[in-house]
Amino acid sequence: IDDLRGQRVAVVGLGKSGRAAIELALARGASVLAIDKNEQLMPLENDPQFYGNAYLHTILGHCDTRLLVDADRVVVSPGVSIEEYGLSRLLRSGRHVMSELDFASEVLPENIKILAVTGTNGKSTVTSFAGQMLQHLGIDAFVGGNLGTPLSEAAKQCLETPSQRKSHQVAVVEVSSYQMEIPNQYFSPSVAVVLNLTPDHLERHKTMENYAAVKCRLFSHMKDHRLAILPHGNHYINDAFSKQANECNVAWIDDFPGIKVDTVAKVAKFRFPSSELVTDLQLGALKAMGTHNCINAAVAAFSVLGLDVGIDNDSINTTIESLTLLPHRMQIVCRDSHGVTWVDDSKATNVESTCTGLMGLREHKLVVLLGGLAKAMTDDVSNGFEQLVELLKDHRGVITFGSSGEMIYKTLCNSGLSIPCARATNLEDAVNCARSMARSGDTILLSPGCASFDEFRNYEHRGRVFQELALSS
Ligand code: ADP
Repeated sequence: IDDLRGQRVAVVGLGKSGRAAIELALARGASVLAIDKNEQLMPLENDPQFYGNAYLHTILGHCDTRLLVDADRVVVSPGVSIEEYGLSRLLRSGRHVMSELDFASEVLPENIKILAVTGTNGKSTVTSFAGQMLQHLGIDAFVGGNLGTPLSEAAKQCLETPSQRKSHQVAVVEVSSYQMEIPNQYFSPSVAVVLNLTPDHLERHKTMENYAAVKCRLFSHMKDHRLAILPHGNHYINDAFSKQANECNVAWIDDFPGIKVDTVAKVAKFRFPSSELVTDLQLGALKAMGTHNCINAAVAAFSVLGLDVGIDNDSINTTIESLTLLPHRMQIVCRDSHGVTWVDDSKATNVESTCTGLMGLREHKLVVLLGGLAKAMTDDVSNGFEQLVELLKDHRGVITFGSSGEMIYKTLCNSGLSIPCARATNLEDAVNCARSMARSGDTILLSPGCASFDEFRNYEHRGRVFQELALSS
């Protein structure tokens, strides 16, 4: 369809989502202004993917914000804050400023059912588990969003000619808080989950109240008020959700109606809103390490059942055994010749996810690698590493490394850490220290609790380097 023919769409931020939005805008007939502050990028007109498209113009580096005022729509990538390019002013003045997610949602077919997943930690795992369950049971599901393929790509496939068209029955969409900084109009999930909420990304969202409010935008346009799944007992989420004044059916993680998980017996109990029926999900066959993954699998299963696409409890039980984790999340790398197991949880980029990792591996004797670039905290939130002291007390030792290594070392020591703690300069040095500290039967766990950018391109890069080092022992 050519619904944007004759219109000018500015796309701000030329990462993966921005580029997908540009392709979608071009497919909808718009002329596109592509903007990014990074002068080193290749102008899209020179990129073979876009080459020859007369409706596309790229501006890199400084951009006169008047160009945005003149655009019919401004589509904002998740990497760009609304404080940039005068976007918040444009938004306030009633201009058509929208997120990539909303731009994509505008053209999704009415009959596609959306399962949206957000939260501070575990989003990708729940999204991927739900996608695997649906695909295992023969439902054609798009799986993407913040993880993997941007939603704009799925939307563009829906516009293609009938013979090439991909018609997904369900879209499982991971949503980050950055994607919801601009309120949605079109993104309308049938089932939406906020898994948990702990301090993170506060450099952009400033306060926990604001962070919770942004997360709860997920529920602002639920289809038929179907099913909102929320963490029980999180007052930030409770407050933000009640301010939404919407009429969703609510289910809780860790209460009824909702999901209760017994991580010892490895069984989850489900009760849906306005039903008295309690059903069981058997989690004994789940191969993913860590008790948090029992919760992730249970939430994914409950969400899939809530979609009402003809899947019942018995069939969902058959999918548990086949679920696999994404790389760098509690990934077992190897058992080396000294009898030491190496586990890569490089995706644990904040303290909370490291806590979860440690709680999930209580039966192991661990050497834990902590460090990298600690996330910015506001004044009323401590750096959080002191929470780890209690969880670390029965383990073999800790190595801190990277630009925040010294700060973490001091916090742990000042908070009464009772096991050996060594300081290393970088990851390689930390791995060497860990190797000499570990004994046969121990597990060396990289669960850094920090971002990776001081030493690596991203958490995947850090995880790959860790795996190479582990395998070279
Ligand atoms: P996200 O996509 O939200 O960043 P991932 O699924 O990639 O989350 O998992 C990142 C890390 O978060 C994992 O390595 C693990 O340490 C932690 N984690 C995973 N699931 C949960 C959960 N349900 N609750 C808390 N922490 C979790």
